[in-house]
Amino acid sequence: MAARAIRVRFAPSPTGFLHLGGLRTALYNYIFARKHRGCFILRLEDTDQSRVVPAASESIEDALEWAGLAPDESPRRGGPAAPYQQSLRCDLYKKYTDLLLEKGAAYRCFCTPQRLELLKKEALRSQQTPRYDNRCRHLNPKEVAEKISQGVDYAVRFCLEEQSDPFCDLIHGWSRHEVASVEGDPVILKSDGFPTYHLANVVDDHLMEISHVLRGVEWLTSTSKHLLLYKAFGWEPPHFGHLPLLLNEDGSKLSKRQGHVFVEEFAQDGYLPTTLLDLMTHCGSGFAENRIGRTLKELIDEFDLSRIERHSALLDLKKLPEFNRVHLAQWIGDERLRQKLVAEVQASVEEVYGEQLPEREVLEKGYIEQVLLLRRGHISRLKDLVSPSYAFLWIRPSVPSEKLQTFSTEADQIGRVVLRLPEKVPSLH
Ligand SMILES: [Zn+2]
Repeated sequence: MAARAIRVRFAPSPTGFLHLGGLRTALYNYIFARKHRGCFILRLEDTDQSRVVPAASESIEDALEWAGLAPDESPRRGGPAAPYQQSLRCDLYKKYTDLLLEKGAAYRCFCTPQRLELLKKEALRSQQTPRYDNRCRHLNPKEVAEKISQGVDYAVRFCLEEQSDPFCDLIHGWSRHEVASVEGDPVILKSDGFPTYHLANVVDDHLMEISHVLRGVEWLTSTSKHLLLYKAFGWEPPHFGHLPLLLNEDGSKLSKRQGHVFVEEFAQDGYLPTTLLDLMTHCGSGFAENRIGRTLKELIDEFDLSRIERHSALLDLKKLPEFNRVHLAQWIGDERLRQKLVAEVQASVEEVYGEQLPEREVLEKGYIEQVLLLRRGHISRLKDLVSPSYAFLWIRPSVPSEKLQTFSTEADQIGRVVLRLPEKVPSLH
């Protein structure tokens, strides 16, 4: 078998801003692609139109670019496998569904939502897991033709084979899930013409020539189903690696309630992209040793897929300021990155002190560079430099006039006392 070119994808649903868990999946795919001189693709899984948030697609790609993980192929950049939004690929899903129907590997299901709901209720009443009973699998061609001619709505379901083959997950080792014994035949094309995840990800991964699928562990148990689809199409499947969950340090799920979860929020709060990448990989996945301050290049050099652990990764957000202090010091020490910081400081000084600036010289590049180099290693965020404790760097201290009056009176008295000192202390003569 000829070696396949390495092609990986990050395939989020544009239901909101990119969150840390998503950034981590993107990062592993990016690192893997760069390490093996492969291609990193962004694909948007936007076929569930009820959940899609306008502008989320743009913000996800913005966040990846901000993090330094710009995709090689994406909705914005295009590429040989375009389009990269699933909602624009519905003709393809229809075409491949028809292919499965022709092969007899899929069938039309005319069951009404009411019937499916009833099945579910009955199962729950008898304390069983709800599953479709595969009734329409047994309709004969005449019955099917009749229903189609009557214009009855239908979805298309995939016939799950009884026996699924074991597969070797790159992280979890050998796995097999007898899907047919626990679930009914899954819908692959909904009655509205949109595909479900199961069909769309298989068709796209095949057409986009994805060699390795690195995705969240929540898809591990669905993989046998996806492999059955590859088999039905007669396609060679990619390698699968299911990444452990990213959780809070106490094992709870990352959620908005405990603070920031979106990449954008961390960026607005003054954290550097390399800080986030470093902190997320610090929690024990894919590296031989733990240390603070790894750059993206070092992450790529030191990454080893076989070192990704199966247990969940615990994220300690309390370490963010310390990580950022180290990364900020690295940025200040780097001539090119320092120029970016200078521009940021100029903008925030203007914003915070604006009219109060007595001399515009404080906005000069040379002065700001000096400030950065002097405070390197002491500040954990760039915006600390415009906090009140550093105001003296930008403006003259302002003292009210009455206060100034008291000062000068006091200074005068002190002066008199000092001048009289030599009279009182003979040794000073
Ligand atoms: Zn049915």
